[in-house]
Amino acid sequence: MSKKSFRVVILPGDGIGPEVVAEATKVLEAVAAASTDIDLQLESHDFGGCAIDKHGVALPDSTLQACKEADAILMGSIGGPKWGVNSKIRPEQGLLTLRKALGLYANIRPANFASDSLLDNSPLKPAIAQGVDIIVVRELIGGVYFGARKESGVAPDEDTAWDTMIYSVSEIQRITRVAAQIALAAHPPLPIHSIDKANVLATSRLWRKVVTETLEVEYPQLKLDHHLVDSASMLIVASPRKLNGVILTENLFGDILSDESSVIPGSLGLLPSASLAGAPSVADYKSANFKATPGIYEPIHGSAPDIAGKGIANPIGTILSAAMLLRYSLGLDIPARAIENAVRVVLDNEDKGGHGLRTADLGGNLSTKVMGAKIVEVLKTLL
Ligand code: ATP
Ligand code: MG
Repeated sequence: MSKKSFRVVILPGDGIGPEVVAEATKVLEAVAAASTDIDLQLESHDFGGCAIDKHGVALPDSTLQACKEADAILMGSIGGPKWGVNSKIRPEQGLLTLRKALGLYANIRPANFASDSLLDNSPLKPAIAQGVDIIVVRELIGGVYFGARKESGVAPDEDTAWDTMIYSVSEIQRITRVAAQIALAAHPPLPIHSIDKANVLATSRLWRKVVTETLEVEYPQLKLDHHLVDSASMLIVASPRKLNGVILTENLFGDILSDESSVIPGSLGLLPSASLAGAPSVADYKSANFKATPGIYEPIHGSAPDIAGKGIANPIGTILSAAMLLRYSLGLDIPARAIENAVRVVLDNEDKGGHGLRTADLGGNLSTKVMGAKIVEVLKTLL
């Protein structure tokens, strides 16, 4: 049988980006090496500050083209003080252009504990934090961040500013479908918690109606409840397990709630994210209806210039991003779970002196490379 081939573009980026992406790349290579029926073509391209230095632009045409043709994109973080707010060309502009060019309207951020041994790092009490397993699905290119606005002081006597929040039925339907497919990719399927402010906002009343109807008609098997954003933001810290499952919400609320939930596991270095241009197919890639959905997968942390080049960054957020890439863009749930299990096994283990295997952000002394190598070593036994 001929192997099914997938193109994965790697954008190492700036700061600690190349260091953590190198470890996630080894993980993907281990998955491909162990498989008799898939082939991953990994190709690296310049993007971000390093591309500004080399090509004079953050997003070179060749990088954009490769991303458009890819089945998925694995990215390190971009930016840093060298290309700060006063620079003419900024790395972040390249990211906005890339997101727009790929039409990435869904941002997905899980917050959970890779291992219970990390519970002590949480700002929440262990009894409250234990078992938290939340995936935030945030609408990314609509709502108040993209509506018409007016700054104050445009005319000398003007002392008002305004922003407009607009959502259409089709924008709400498509993000609802993403949340539903993500809920279905888990075994058993996850409940969906839709978050809005329907007691005040017209956009939220439309949101609630469209989410309810779309799920009733297209995904009647999924459980749905609704929360107001103010009460949901309290629940996330007071009893977060009540929101276990998929949180489905619009752009502004999602920005806030995804940051709030991501502090629960205790280190920025641990968590992955995905930005998608379509609902992932939950069918295995072998099935006739499987279609790869391009997406960008990256850790939630930034380029961490303070520790760049020291070889101490935690690669786990990027390695778990690679697992999300396999699951959501390539339809490869089994190796995705193997990666997640390998991370758990490593974090559950101790060295000969009885110390947990940890990078510096979690109080340990493992280097980025050693942490990556330990995860790959365990992964090979699970594939
Ligand atoms: P952004 O670039 O999105 O603005 P930021 O500057 O707010 O991000 P980061 O660059 O993520 O934040 O860094 C915040 C802090 O967390 C820094 O002290 C950094 O060293 C630390 N940090 C971030 N990612 C990691 C990681 N993978 N491993 C260890 N420490 C990390
Ligand atoms: Mg930063």
